[in-house]
Amino acid sequence: MSTPDVRIVPDAPQPGQRPGHWEVAVESLAAGFHGELLRPGDAGYDDARRIWNGMIDRKPGLIARCVDAADVARAVTFAREHSLLVSVRGGDHNAAGNAVCDGGLMVDLAPMKGIVVDPAARTARVEPGVRWAELDAATQRHGLATTGGTVSDTGVAGLTLGGGLGWLAGRYGLTCDNLLAADVVTANGRLVRASAAAHPDLFWGLRGGSGNFGVVTAFELQLHPVGPTVFAGMVAHPLERAADVLRFYRDFASAAPDEVNTACAFMTTPDGVRVVAIAACHCGSVEDGARALAPLKAFGPPVLDQVGPMPYLLFQGALDGAFPRGRRYYWKSAVVPAIPDDMVARTVEQFAAVPSPLTILLFQQVGNAANRVAPDATAFPHRDARWDALVLSGWEDPAEDAAQIAWSRQVWESWRPFSTGVYVNGVADGDAAEVRAAYGARYDRLAALKAKYDPTNLFRVNANIPPRA
Ligand SMILES: Cc1cc2nc3c(=O)[nH]c(=O)nc-3n(C[C@H](O)[C@H](O)[C@H](O)COP(=O)(O)OP(=O)(O)OC[C@H]3O[C@@H](n4cnc5c(N)ncnc54)[C@H](O)[C@@H]3O)c2cc1C
Repeated sequence: MSTPDVRIVPDAPQPGQRPGHWEVAVESLAAGFHGELLRPGDAGYDDARRIWNGMIDRKPGLIARCVDAADVARAVTFAREHSLLVSVRGGDHNAAGNAVCDGGLMVDLAPMKGIVVDPAARTARVEPGVRWAELDAATQRHGLATTGGTVSDTGVAGLTLGGGLGWLAGRYGLTCDNLLAADVVTANGRLVRASAAAHPDLFWGLRGGSGNFGVVTAFELQLHPVGPTVFAGMVAHPLERAADVLRFYRDFASAAPDEVNTACAFMTTPDGVRVVAIAACHCGSVEDGARALAPLKAFGPPVLDQVGPMPYLLFQGALDGAFPRGRRYYWKSAVVPAIPDDMVARTVEQFAAVPSPLTILLFQQVGNAANRVAPDATAFPHRDARWDALVLSGWEDPAEDAAQIAWSRQVWESWRPFSTGVYVNGVADGDAAEVRAAYGARYDRLAALKAKYDPTNLFRVNANIPPRA
């Protein structure tokens, strides 16, 4: 990511020093700010700059902990007027660490936790600091849900703006397909509403264009009847059968009805056993779910079978333990239209040399309904991809960083011949080729949209699309 015109924010004055120009500017921002402004050394500063990926250790010059859209508008205007690098933090789960920047202004949306569910209209208005556990709990009170991330700690904001893969996507599409409207503070500091009727070009770009076009201060999402009990869970097979299991999984997922969404993981259990696990969720009736997932329970048979009726909320948190906050992570994505036998073989071969028991190779199904959305309807470009193949590397020791990252890239390279692109929420390095692969055929239209809504590229700590007229 290029940062040539970044002004590094000076440290706060020492006790006894007179405030300089910068201090006066921050004081004037503070005067109208409803939330909290944090600088290095302030209580709470280190907590606020820490994100999910423990490998990311960046120190913003100023953190604006916004509590409302007015705060966001003030922070954005302040950053633009002072030529500051800006990062935007929603749920802080972006593995590349785009929520936080060095030396600039972090617009921290974590305090914005409002959720209003309209059960009659089956919609939810959601502020950008909300995580999936919070939104799911609020909507399930009414027997409703929308497609959400498969780890409950992930933020609604970044996930939605990048697309949003989840257990309900086979039936209800991606999260971004369920976005009805968004309130956005654009680079000029104005709050606009984007929907099919208002700023439709911006609304198109927000559904897959990630954080390039402004700071979303509220999302309006379509909800659907789900649960509260679904037929879901995980089966596991010994690694010796890995190739058979992945081939079975591929065929099972390809033929599954819309209500079913799935994932397949090469992983190591907490007691050190390498397995291939298949997780699936049927979001219709429990009876239909039992029928649809019967082949999953019969194949093998599995050494572990936890598939059965369970609360949707419980399943939404079932994978949380595998991805704790603060561990070191490096993730890489390759979307694929199919999992041919050659890819099966390469995956089995690569996992045999996995350098960390905390690392997972995952195939996350995109989902039937998500695949049926017209290619140009949203900025999300991968409508013909059936899976996101993910290298989810995790480890604890900083001395291993280089080796773990090198191995992850090697696996990803071995998958490239089968891949048609990169899921933007899995962009790891942010180089031009990876970013182009993330936006695919939508890139040029997005670059023109960027020129309209953010001509100076204020929002560039992301999978960045430089503006182009
Ligand atoms: C454990 C784990 C599980 C995951 N599971 C899934 C999954 O099942 N499905 C899936 O699709 N993805 C999944 N992801 C990927 C996830 O979608 C991305 O990491 C996403 O970026 C997370 O959003 P966030 O708000 O938590 O992250 P952040 O790091 O806060 O933000 C991510 C990006 O979005 C921008 N952004 C955040 N909020 C706003 C806003 N309000 N306005 C404008 N820009 C904003 C940020 O600047 C940044 O560039 C997972 C990630 C993790 C770590």
